Amino acid sequence: MNPRIEVDLTKLTENVSIAVRQCAAYNIHVMGVTKCFCGNPEIARAMVDGGARMLGDSRLHNLAKLGEFNLAKVLLRIPMISEAEQVVELADYSLNSELETLRALGKAALRRGCIHQAILMLDLGDLREGIWKSDMQEFVLKASEIEGISIKGFGTNLSCYGGVIPEEENLQQLVNISREMETKFGLSLEFISGGNSSSYYLLEKGTIPEGINQLRLGELLLLGRETAFGDYLPEFHQDVFQLKGELVEVKWKPSVPEGRIGMDAFGNVPVYEDRGMMKRGIVALGRQDINPEGLMPVESTIEVLGGSSDHTILDLTQSEQDYRVGDTVAFQVDYGCLLKAMTSPYVDKVMIL
Ligand SMILES: *Cc1c(COP(=O)(O)O)cnc(C)c1O
Repeated sequence: MNPRIEVDLTKLTENVSIAVRQCAAYNIHVMGVTKCFCGNPEIARAMVDGGARMLGDSRLHNLAKLGEFNLAKVLLRIPMISEAEQVVELADYSLNSELETLRALGKAALRRGCIHQAILMLDLGDLREGIWKSDMQEFVLKASEIEGISIKGFGTNLSCYGGVIPEEENLQQLVNISREMETKFGLSLEFISGGNSSSYYLLEKGTIPEGINQLRLGELLLLGRETAFGDYLPEFHQDVFQLKGELVEVKWKPSVPEGRIGMDAFGNVPVYEDRGMMKRGIVALGRQDINPEGLMPVESTIEVLGGSSDHTILDLTQSEQDYRVGDTVAFQVDYGCLLKAMTSPYVDKVMIL
C-alpha cells in the first residue's frame, strides 16, 4: 500500500550497536527512545537487539506497547498528575520536575504497593523541563520525604527548546549537583542522565564529564544524526527509514501560477521563481503525513516544490527517469517528517529484516 515507510531493522540494530559500543567506552549506557515511532514493538526490538539497556518514551500509550520487553521502561515527558496511576503501572522510572506530581505518583505507587523511581530533571538553561539550579536543594529536601517515591537519578535535557548545546561545563554542573545532592540527602543514585542525541558529539570528542552514565538516544539511532550541530555521522546508517509515495499526476506545466496570487491553503502568500516549463509530479502524500520541507528525495535530481494537506509537488524535470503516473518516488526524511509519517495512520509501516 502507498504511501509507505520502510524500516530496515538490521540497519537500526547496527546503529544501536555502534552507539552502545561507543558509550560503553565511557561507562555510559543507552536508553533507546521510542517516541518517534510511537513505541512500535518491532522497531523497539531492533533497539533492544542492538544493546539498549532501557526503553524510554514520552507517552504512556507507547510504553503500554512495550510490555513484552524485560527492560526498564522510562516515561520521558514529565507526567500529568491525572495519569499518575498509569505512570506507576506502566513505567519503572519517570522524569520529574514538580513536587505536586511526585506526591501524586507517590500516592499512586503506595496504593499499588510499590515504590516509584524518579529521575529529577535539572534545567541547565534550555528552559524546557527541569528544576532551576538554585531551587535544587530545597526541591530534593522535599522530594526525598515523599512516601512511595525513590530518587534514583538526575538528568537534563538540552538542545530542545532553547537550543542550548551540551558542553563539558554544563554537564559537569549536572554531575556536581547530582553528587552534592546524593551526599547531602543520602540518596543512592543509579543514573546521571546526560541528555539526548545532542550530547553524543562529546563522546566523539572524548570530553564527556565522568559520572554521566546514561544517554537517552532517539534521532542518532534512527537517522544517524547528532543534534547539537545537525551533523550526519558517517559511521551510522542514515537510511534506516525510507518513505515511498505514489505519483498521481505527472505533467509539463509552467513553473509560475497563472492568475492573481492570494493565500495558499495555510495562509501564506507564496513567491515563485520562473524556471520555464517544468515536468511536475504530484505525490499522494501531504501535511497530514509528512512535512514537505523534511522530505529528501533519494534521487538527488528531484526537487520538492511544496505541498498541501494531501499533495506534495515535485520538480521531475532534471530526473533521468521517465516518471509516470503510478510510479513511486522514494524519500529520506528528517526527524519531524519521520515523526509525522510514523504517527500518520495513512502511512503503511513496512518492516524489512
Ligand atoms: C525525545 C527525548 C529524548 C531523545 O531525543 P533525541 O534527540 O531523539 O535523541 C531524550 N530525552 C527526552 C526527555 C526526550 O523527550
